[in-house]
Amino acid sequence: MFDVEYLDIPPLSRAAGTVRLPGSKSISNRVLLLAALSHGQTTVHALLASDDTAVMLAALRQLGCTVQQQGDTAVISGLGGQLLQRKAALFMGNAGTAIRPLTAALALLGGEFELSGVPRMHERPIGDLVDALRQLGCSIEYLANEGFPPLRLQPSPGPLKLDQPIRVRGDVSSQFLTALLMALPLVADRDIHIEVIGELISRPYIEITLKLLQRFGIQVQREDWQRFTIPAGSQYQSPGEIHVEGDASSASYFIALGAIAESTRGQHGIEILGVGADSIQGDIRFVEAARMMGAEIDSTPHSLRVRRGQPGKGWPLKAIDLDCNHIPDAAMTLAVMALYADGTTVLRNIASWRVKETDRIAAMACELRKLGASVEEGLDYLKITPPASLQDWKPAAIHTYDDHRMAMCFSLAAFNPAQCPVRILDPKCVAKTFPDYFEALFNVTEADATLIPVICIDGPTASGKGTLAALTAQRLGYHYLDSGALYRLTAFAARRAGVSLDDAEGVARIARSLPVRFQGDRIFLDAEDVSDAIRTEAAGMAASRVSVHPQVRAALVRLQHSFRQLPGLVADGRDMGSVIFPDAPLKIYLTASAQRRAERRYKQLISKGNTITIQTILQDLEARDARDMSRQAAPLKPADQARLLDNSELSIEKSVAQVIDWWQATRPF
Ligand code: C5P
Repeated sequence: MFDVEYLDIPPLSRAAGTVRLPGSKSISNRVLLLAALSHGQTTVHALLASDDTAVMLAALRQLGCTVQQQGDTAVISGLGGQLLQRKAALFMGNAGTAIRPLTAALALLGGEFELSGVPRMHERPIGDLVDALRQLGCSIEYLANEGFPPLRLQPSPGPLKLDQPIRVRGDVSSQFLTALLMALPLVADRDIHIEVIGELISRPYIEITLKLLQRFGIQVQREDWQRFTIPAGSQYQSPGEIHVEGDASSASYFIALGAIAESTRGQHGIEILGVGADSIQGDIRFVEAARMMGAEIDSTPHSLRVRRGQPGKGWPLKAIDLDCNHIPDAAMTLAVMALYADGTTVLRNIASWRVKETDRIAAMACELRKLGASVEEGLDYLKITPPASLQDWKPAAIHTYDDHRMAMCFSLAAFNPAQCPVRILDPKCVAKTFPDYFEALFNVTEADATLIPVICIDGPTASGKGTLAALTAQRLGYHYLDSGALYRLTAFAARRAGVSLDDAEGVARIARSLPVRFQGDRIFLDAEDVSDAIRTEAAGMAASRVSVHPQVRAALVRLQHSFRQLPGLVADGRDMGSVIFPDAPLKIYLTASAQRRAERRYKQLISKGNTITIQTILQDLEARDARDMSRQAAPLKPADQARLLDNSELSIEKSVAQVIDWWQATRPF
């Protein structure tokens, strides 16, 4: 996951490949709760691992439920409608799919519970559900603001009043009805009727609820979308095993990607595994909306394939005017697709956006305008007109409002024809439903290599380049290339093969086909972990010897270039800025006095149990510097336009801060 403050996405040009979707959030959290309430054990396959499911799992454990997890499979021992723990304070994060049904279930089962969440959760309404539960005689108190979490539940003073139909509003969030539908089977010793007041929004989510209830043994009867009956004697029974399908809302980003990105040469668009024509999720109907806009989509029961339409037919996309009540979450993706349409797109009937993770109508309007679009915002609609010309597009730092969908939607703005980079603030908010979203995106997208940014950090031995480069890469979510390791590896492999380090052609042959593999911070030569073996002083000296041969240097160029991958690269070495990445927007020449460098290296070696004197290190270091600086091929020297950073007196944090400051100054945001 990109655990960074912001993620800069370079202009993207093409896309192709296969994406396997994470499990559906809506299905995962419903299944977890149903399994916990049931009699018997349930094995849940392909469970989504995300913030919202973590919240639900933690709550179920607190309530006494046993959950065993292995990979994306969870085995849940059902409580059989009986709580083992009747007193708990439950933290619900920002998971609407957890707090609503749990409130209903716990209120009916009885006990003393407090349910709270993050500050935004305390702004998301729950009053309609509480009103419905109070009609039944449940005792629920607001601990802060009337109508909003946090809540305190207490055992109801008298028997539950189940004879009257329970009335619940359906026009703010369908989750209130879902909560009642999932909780009431726990007390169905007679027929229980639910009546919906107002027009029910987001019906497809109610359909998911009804289908899953069926899998767990509950046959709800429905009259239109107004009246629901839970038959007397309903009892939860585990289906034994259940598979969670891929998240159809998450599919929308990749459907949109296929619709707006030209396919990589020789490939056929984007293949999406995990949802298809047989999906029970309402957001699968996003496919129809994307087709209306011009996407070419084929489906099988469990997969989709999406291609951009032909020029003049499906591309540019066609502007649409759509009632989005049936796809409330995925419709956000249409708002970003509208940036690539041939006119004004109108998304209607989206009032529920205002009470989601953030006020999504306001957030969407504000961020689309930052990119240069014209947006009209209504109480329950958005009208979006793309930037009029190339010059009207602007590079933008997109605020994501702790809303995973904002982050995922706006990543697609990086395909803008003006080639403006896009900055996504707080990208890790995608963890709510799709922790690896950006990895999945970068896996199937391509950028023009020259537009993928590189930061070069060159300098003499033991100047601290490695630490500085690795930390900078971590801060920016970029890849890291330790080019010295490639020379060390080459020398190591040459020695192994019995090739003299002075045999330029022999060593170059080895360098050309190094069987190297990087895995986290470990380096492998074939199957052998050589990370420690190449870090010795002797290995450094051997690297310096092979690095003087122009043939060896040439042999390693392609390998080094291959590290330039989305979303960016920090590379350290001797010639990163001068030879390998001469077009890098930021080049740094890092130095420290020889004495300082020797002291640092001394400390490092001593802590690893080596016995050596500072004097010896100083001599070695100076010898290595002299050779690196005086060689003919790519000698060590500051690259043109390199910024000099002397860190003799700087802490590593200050050095990183300085590099980030310089980097910021090159950015258009
Ligand atoms: O940076 P490190 O100490 O791992 O590098 C080992 C040796 O590899 C250096 O002394 C230098 O001779 C060589 N090298 C190089 N060009 C690079 C990186 C390292 O010549 N880009």
